Amino acid sequence: MKFLTKHLRTWEGPLTSDLVQHPGEFGLGNIPRQLTPDATTTIVCGFCSTGCGLKVHLKDGEAINLSAETDYPVNLGMACPKGWEALTPLRSPDRAISPLLKNPATGLQEAVNWDQAIDVFCSRFQSILTQHGPESVAWLGTGQMPCEELAFLGALGKFGMGLIHGDGNTRQCMATATTAYKESFGFDAPPFTYSDFEESDVLVFIGANPCIAHPIMWQRVMSNSHQPEIIVLDPRATETAMAATQHLALQPKSDLTLLYGIAQILVSKNWVDLDYIQKHTTNYSAFTEFLQGFDTQMVAAATGLTIATIEHCAETIGKGQRVSLWWTMGVNQSHEATRTAQAIINIALMTGNMGRPGTGANSITGQCNAMGSRLFSNTTNMLGGHEFLNPVHRQKVASVLNIQDASIPNKNSLPYHQILAGIEAGRIKGLWIVATNTAHSWINQNWARATLAKLDFLVVQDMYGNTETARTADLVLPAAGWGEKEGTLINSERRFGLMKKVSRAPGLALSDFNIFRLIAQRWGCGEMFQKWTSPEAVFQILKELSRDQPCDISGIRDYQMIDDCGGIQWPFTKGEEDLPAVQRRLFEDGKYYHSDGRARFIFESTRAVAEPVAAEFPLVLLTGRGTSAQWHTQTRTGKSDILRKLYPANVYVEVSPADAARLKIEANTQIIVRSRRGKISATAFITSTMRAGQVFIPMHYPELNQLTFPAFDPYSHQPSYKYCAVTLEPATRSSWKKKPPQQN
Ligand code: SF4
Repeated sequence: MKFLTKHLRTWEGPLTSDLVQHPGEFGLGNIPRQLTPDATTTIVCGFCSTGCGLKVHLKDGEAINLSAETDYPVNLGMACPKGWEALTPLRSPDRAISPLLKNPATGLQEAVNWDQAIDVFCSRFQSILTQHGPESVAWLGTGQMPCEELAFLGALGKFGMGLIHGDGNTRQCMATATTAYKESFGFDAPPFTYSDFEESDVLVFIGANPCIAHPIMWQRVMSNSHQPEIIVLDPRATETAMAATQHLALQPKSDLTLLYGIAQILVSKNWVDLDYIQKHTTNYSAFTEFLQGFDTQMVAAATGLTIATIEHCAETIGKGQRVSLWWTMGVNQSHEATRTAQAIINIALMTGNMGRPGTGANSITGQCNAMGSRLFSNTTNMLGGHEFLNPVHRQKVASVLNIQDASIPNKNSLPYHQILAGIEAGRIKGLWIVATNTAHSWINQNWARATLAKLDFLVVQDMYGNTETARTADLVLPAAGWGEKEGTLINSERRFGLMKKVSRAPGLALSDFNIFRLIAQRWGCGEMFQKWTSPEAVFQILKELSRDQPCDISGIRDYQMIDDCGGIQWPFTKGEEDLPAVQRRLFEDGKYYHSDGRARFIFESTRAVAEPVAAEFPLVLLTGRGTSAQWHTQTRTGKSDILRKLYPANVYVEVSPADAARLKIEANTQIIVRSRRGKISATAFITSTMRAGQVFIPMHYPELNQLTFPAFDPYSHQPSYKYCAVTLEPATRSSWKKKPPQQN
């Protein structure tokens, strides 16, 4: 599809110490250089991984409004409420407009200039490193930043500053998919393209509620003209489950058992593609042997489903011609997440539902650039999907960046939860948090907040100085947000899209990119980043880093090409320049990224949940997205008057009618939800979408994670937000002595 839009390039001025003295990067004198005062341009949305194109309308060089881009191949004129309101959070009066430094005498954060802020940043972290070594300072990044900034942060942290440990909030959403794909396919490679939503005759959604979480993807499902069977595996009767042709309301965290049970039926009924299995996979016979332990009767007992329901689901999959399987956080955020994701992959492989239109084992990404974080953040993987433990990879990256091999760590970073454990143990004393909100979003929040309080020095770099995390920081660095800077984002179907600068950041706020440049200069490693002069210059470096990797993008000429094409999916290698608009689906040739070219069947016995229900805590707490108007910890969506009208202002808990009757809970009254880690006050919503024994609280309210249990998948180290044991109590004066915290 030829995508045409008036090209708008954004200004990126030279960065020198001038910037510190004249931080007018976004001042009136610095209007984007190719911007005509009343232009219209298309940029990619900065909330979720769908990656919709938004047409931004400018007046006098500033964005004044936007509409959904009709020609963009992702969303075809649609946008969800967050996208329509994407400009509003930029204008919020509580934007961070100056660096803030905590006064040790008063404990108050006071405004300082950039010179002081960068001096303190470097001197405090350097002092900790000198005293305690390279493992004593770490960073936590985000899947909300563009690839170029993620790469800069990761390269600066590990190669420039000499840190070993850095991770990001992608650990909370996509680490499982990454691990599962790497083990099964040989590389972290979601195989699909969005047209697969429209091409399938059977779509299976596992732990996914796209009606709410990815509404524009769901619109693509609604455009499917094949009258598809839509199967939903979810304990709750979600909006997606209600629209499905089959809803398997399984017991929470019995999904792995169910998937093995379905696979066992597929084998026993011979609804498998033996030719595909033989040519393109390994370990199938061991898998079939393993499956013998999952007879349908046992699976029915474990999942709470009837045998007929399970058999009907398996038959639908087995007899489907183009079956696609889709998963999100219900799978990824589990105590046995990686094996569950791989059980999905196994079903796609054994039925030959890979590499053809309408097929695939497809993980839907969360954040707008979680895929970029997976490939270019230099945390879990080295830049370009390389491995820190591989000396050939270290040499390649060193050569592209023109740095010494010795500048690259030969060990892996600690994952997020072990970084926090390192802080608790006193081994990590300095932390730099960039655009994520740990004090709200991390599991077992009371512990997480107490742990952050143990740091000698906490820096938070964010658009807002009043997030739950930023409020506790020793130093706050004010950052530009989406729409105030440029860079590339990679969406769920591996499409590079362009973020552009259509608005000026307020006050002294700088793009993360330029903050990194300032730090590099003052740290003393500026020379290493001489070529990192602008996001587009870094994009050229990323192209070289990706060369010969599965995510090779060496054929993308520049930002202009991405803009002209309406985004470009990876891989896009040199020589493919004439085919930018082709839909790219992986594994069409049946060749996987392992050295033998074959995909692996990977499986393991199921595990018990970490915190089962008990007499004192008899209910399972489920968590997830509330509405399509809310995003994560609401630091941005909470700023929109319009979006706030679309969801309840205060935390609520969904309760089944049976439990409400048993516990004498009345609708819309305040009740206490208590776990072994904390208790919160919440409004009771009684709804038949919940089954007895289960309650649900949306993730967006800061109170929620006071309750959650810190279990982690042993392979991906992703937190298991989806299951812990709680109890409900009436909110009497004696049980709730202090006022519940208010939502931001
Ligand atoms: Fe599209 Fe997601 Fe942005 Fe909504 S939040 S407009 S679905 S990219």
